[in-house]
Amino acid sequence: MNNQNSLSKQYIQKEELYNAHNYHPLPVVLKKGSGVFVWDVEDKKYFDFLSGYSAINQGHCHPKIVQAMIEQAQILTLTSRAFYSNLLGEFAEYITTYFGYDKVLPMNTGVEGVETALKLARKWGYEKKGIEENQAQVIVCNDNFHGRTINVISFSSDPTSRTGFGPFTHGYINIPFDDTTALAEALKNKNVCAFLFEPIQGEAGVKVPKGGYLKACYDMCKAANVLFIADEIQTGLARTGKMLACDYEDVKPDILILGKALSGGTMPISAVLCNDEIMLTIKPGEHGSTYGGNPLACKVAITSLQVLKDENMAENAAQMGTYFREKLQNINSSYIKIVRGKGLLNAIEISHKNENAAWELCIEMMNNGLIAKPTHGDKIRFAPPLVITKSQIDEAVAIIEKSLKVLADLK
Ligand code: PLP
Repeated sequence: MNNQNSLSKQYIQKEELYNAHNYHPLPVVLKKGSGVFVWDVEDKKYFDFLSGYSAINQGHCHPKIVQAMIEQAQILTLTSRAFYSNLLGEFAEYITTYFGYDKVLPMNTGVEGVETALKLARKWGYEKKGIEENQAQVIVCNDNFHGRTINVISFSSDPTSRTGFGPFTHGYINIPFDDTTALAEALKNKNVCAFLFEPIQGEAGVKVPKGGYLKACYDMCKAANVLFIADEIQTGLARTGKMLACDYEDVKPDILILGKALSGGTMPISAVLCNDEIMLTIKPGEHGSTYGGNPLACKVAITSLQVLKDENMAENAAQMGTYFREKLQNINSSYIKIVRGKGLLNAIEISHKNENAAWELCIEMMNNGLIAKPTHGDKIRFAPPLVITKSQIDEAVAIIEKSLKVLADLK
């Protein structure tokens, strides 16, 4: 492995020695990023085909986002919500107008956005729908990924996420993803206040539901007086070729959760959007976060959203995504079982008798100048920054094609 050599090895050893072992990183040590590229400590250049799990939609160190960050960092960074700031109202007006909601509740990480949405849904369930106290249920999908808190892993179906972390919280009904019959059955329960879903299941390996699924679910939720909560933390903000993945079926979630690319990969910013009927059920003191809605985050988020629009990133993601999938499909390799995705959220499934084949392919791609990460064993997600060009896709696909040859020698 080329960069297991000198310098990289030292950094890896230090991280392994002093940092928790809660990830299994590819052995590449990055020190710099710009647009679709990153560089390691030995100055080797790579295409970044993970984009910080879709946080870096605008490209690494986007100059406008970095500039906004630097300027605001020199003026005011944190007030806490004990006081007003000159930027929170501006951000709130900007993002609610952008997505068409009455109000926003700003948080930091994605999972905090999910927790916020669940608290809002329960509160709405009790105060507006009339569910008996402590009886509210939320329908969720199997193979979901909504983050890592104890409450959120309580409704995960992934043993790696859950095992050893019980006891779990209650109030969730798991159904299969992309199954409207199962949803119809679950909605018969009068204590259901919400349906929480990812429009495309990213961590599960970019599982795209059948066309019409979102619209059918939306209609069923409306008929049952149940909130339709879209976790667009990974699929949103132009990643799938539209500003939101829900836009493909013209459905507007009752609660929209955003994160990741809301800061273009510069700092943790998440946001929950909904109308007054839901948002105003939460009163002062009932929810919050020291950093949520801080002036630095407000400035960075406004700029990150503006950049997506100014640079037509949704359109580019749609066009480049179609081109990329076509090129992947044209690769003549028996090891690629499936190519799937929407916009620039894509995955391939590897077919090989060796269960480490996807990992070995990622190592070979890394050696050849492209970094991506396997998810759930045999799947590899390909999600480059949305600023990628056609010639860069050509170059990247050539790397993928060349790297696939390593699987021929793998026993
Ligand atoms: N929801 C979805 C759909 C995600 O993909 C993720 C992260 O990958 C999260 C929630 C959690 O976000 P965070 O890691 O910022 O807490």
